[in-house]
Amino acid sequence: MAPHPSTAQNHDVRMRGFVRRSTVTQVLEWIDQNLPPLQSEQVPLEEAAGRLLIKSVASEVDVPSFTRGMMDGFAVRAEDTTGASPYSPMSLEMIGQALPGQPFEGKIARGQTVRIMTGAPMPKGADAVLPAEHAEIHAARILIHKAVSPHKHLGTVAEDIAIGTTVLTAPRKLRPQDIGVLSSIGIAHVEVAQLPRVHVVTTGDELLPAGSKPHGYRITDANSPMLLALIRRDGGRVTHSGIVPDDRQRILQALMADVDVVVVSGGSSVGQEDHVPTLLAEHGELNIHGVAMRPSSPVGMGRLGKRLVFLLPGNPVSCLCGYDFFAGRAIRLLGGCGKAWPYQRQNYRLRRKLVSIVGRVDYARILLVDGQIDPLATTGASVLSSTTRGDGFVIIPEDSEGYAAGSQVDVFLYD
Ligand code: AMP
Ligand code: MG
Repeated sequence: MAPHPSTAQNHDVRMRGFVRRSTVTQVLEWIDQNLPPLQSEQVPLEEAAGRLLIKSVASEVDVPSFTRGMMDGFAVRAEDTTGASPYSPMSLEMIGQALPGQPFEGKIARGQTVRIMTGAPMPKGADAVLPAEHAEIHAARILIHKAVSPHKHLGTVAEDIAIGTTVLTAPRKLRPQDIGVLSSIGIAHVEVAQLPRVHVVTTGDELLPAGSKPHGYRITDANSPMLLALIRRDGGRVTHSGIVPDDRQRILQALMADVDVVVVSGGSSVGQEDHVPTLLAEHGELNIHGVAMRPSSPVGMGRLGKRLVFLLPGNPVSCLCGYDFFAGRAIRLLGGCGKAWPYQRQNYRLRRKLVSIVGRVDYARILLVDGQIDPLATTGASVLSSTTRGDGFVIIPEDSEGYAAGSQVDVFLYD
């Protein structure tokens, strides 16, 4: 694959900055075109909900495979009930009962009935069910107060699923009710897409492992725990290298994990210690480096063997934003979650203007105030608490200078 225009001239951009940035649209296209093919696996039905079905399923049976009663009551010949009413009840001889799984073995003749429960096979000779509330039992006879028409309250053969019907067409994310339908036709295993295997590589000599108190000039790793949670949310099977020092050999080794997607935090930009882009360019392909967006502009991506590799900036807001835009999209698509953002989208009125510049996509955090939204004052890519104080974000597209106060805008809500 030829390098993207943004990387053609600047393989080693360290301490020089980006010559040209890709647009978000170009990057999304690159991702969609470079997703590795889905691998399939058989999983037991009870583990299949939420997974992406990749082989359509046809039924080898009729559901139901017999005619059954759909009410508790009495299996009758409809013609025997003609004329029955509260003023002129009619009497039928009760000759047995039919229960679910336990049919009445005989045949109903004129003037006869069989007590039947919902789901029980219809006895031979009967063609309708009279609901229990329209009859009184008197020893071996019943008095009926109502007529029923033929086929009333019957479940017919194959009314749910007919033999040979395709019940689920792939690709499809399996819903709980899909699992129920598959079970009803006797399926025990289904073929689904393998969940993408994702490895997180966190770089930075200044980082202390999650769980330590920051001290001195060192900071505690915020990105790894956040990325693990994001990847799990998006259906990835995630592993983590721990913190990898800013050392080329150690980083390269971590990048070589046997996975589908590698997500790197930090070391991805144009600083002296940012080794990941050059490593990727030397040992694989650095297809994108530098994107016209804020935050997260130093984001990069490419391939290393069969792996897709995403280089996310270390600044935590950039890391979150770059993940959701790019790495998350790949992981969600591979796992069958689709392209949509995993956040609810709602339209709100903006109380103050929200500025951007043409040619750049902005990820602006906002606050919900009295059913309207305010831009958050803190916009720095290093201030992760802006995403916890904020209620969501607005994406200002490339071709927009922002929104005036009073505009209606779409907000992605964090929850
Ligand atoms: P880098 O992308 O490695 O140049 O890092 C940019 C900024 O993000 C620096 O201030 C780093 O200290 C900070 N940073 C890098 N990695 C992390 C992390 N895992 N958690 C929190 N901050 C980080
Ligand atoms: Mg760093």
